[in-house]
Amino acid sequence: MTPSAEFTPATHRRRLAGAAAAARDRGLDALLITPSPDYAYLLGYGAPALERLTCLVVPAEGEVTLILPRLEEPLARHELGELADEVELIPWDETDDPIRLVRQYLDGALRVGLQDQMWARFVLRLRAALDPAELVEAGPAMSAMRRIKDADEVERLGAAAAAADAAMSAITSERLSGRTEIDVSRRIRELLIEAGHEAAGFAIVASGPNSASPHHVPGSRMIEPGDAIVLDIGGSRAGYASDTSRTAFVGEPPAEVAALYGVLREAQAAACLAVQPGVACSEIDATARRIIDDAGYGDAFIHRTGHGIGMETHEEPYLVASNPDPLVAGNAFSIEPGIYLSGRWGARIEDIVVCTESGGTRLNTTSTELIEVE
Ligand code: ZN
Ligand code: ZN
Ligand code: ZN
Repeated sequence: MTPSAEFTPATHRRRLAGAAAAARDRGLDALLITPSPDYAYLLGYGAPALERLTCLVVPAEGEVTLILPRLEEPLARHELGELADEVELIPWDETDDPIRLVRQYLDGALRVGLQDQMWARFVLRLRAALDPAELVEAGPAMSAMRRIKDADEVERLGAAAAAADAAMSAITSERLSGRTEIDVSRRIRELLIEAGHEAAGFAIVASGPNSASPHHVPGSRMIEPGDAIVLDIGGSRAGYASDTSRTAFVGEPPAEVAALYGVLREAQAAACLAVQPGVACSEIDATARRIIDDAGYGDAFIHRTGHGIGMETHEEPYLVASNPDPLVAGNAFSIEPGIYLSGRWGARIEDIVVCTESGGTRLNTTSTELIEVE
């Protein structure tokens, strides 16, 4: 089933009301949301982030205002549809000062949350214009909502994961030796699109010694027999991201690789099994890390166990030792431990998992075994 790209106006009404409530909960008088995933989450369309300010003003109480360049107004009206009844559009002309408009609509607010990815030029101008208001990150208020996925969002994440799985199955049934990393990476991007993504996001192909570099950029290295290959791929479908990793081996893996991989697979499976509402994010990380530590590879697991996923590939909640937040039903995140022996081999297994009332559901369903390829 293909999820439709648009959410209902009722969903966006609920999200706008939720943003105002999240601002109130944190003692904020308003949120200022510039074009970003937060903006698209609230309004249902992605406005371009430009030197001309577009800014959604969500007050803790009262009417939502969208301050935008006049030339962006037709797009906004078209995309907002009936939601435009609830959002007052305030277009500004080329010679107007949009920062003054924001100040006017904030109406003496004293604590204001700024969208996390707002450009510095706007942050600095707002800081001067809104003095003495306290400006803080809007991120915690926005992520309080965005980190809990509803059924429609989970379905989209599932469709994206299925598309990534199809691309992973396809690439690992092709011959990989004799091709360069960059050629295989380009092929994966094609497969991601063929499988139903609207956009291919990334296609890491890390072969041989490069497999020990978690975010290796695919290059001109020729893949050859005896290589481990870490494949980490994803894109977006119906506005939601996919992200999965599997490790392949060209030919029969030597005993050292098989042993390392067995430990990694056990750690990844245990962390998936530990998912349950109320379990701390740090505990999921610890579950994977204990198994890897006990096998003597602790120093070779050089990153956190996972990250939240949704409209963005990396978002809250982060599965890291320093995060005591308990998981709640509706959280969606990667579980992706890795073991990297510098200059020799590396391996990673990554699945997207949704926390439900009864435990974790894996959205990626391809086998996590080490994949023997030609
Ligand atoms: Zn990564
Ligand atoms: Zn990931
Ligand atoms: Zn990944």
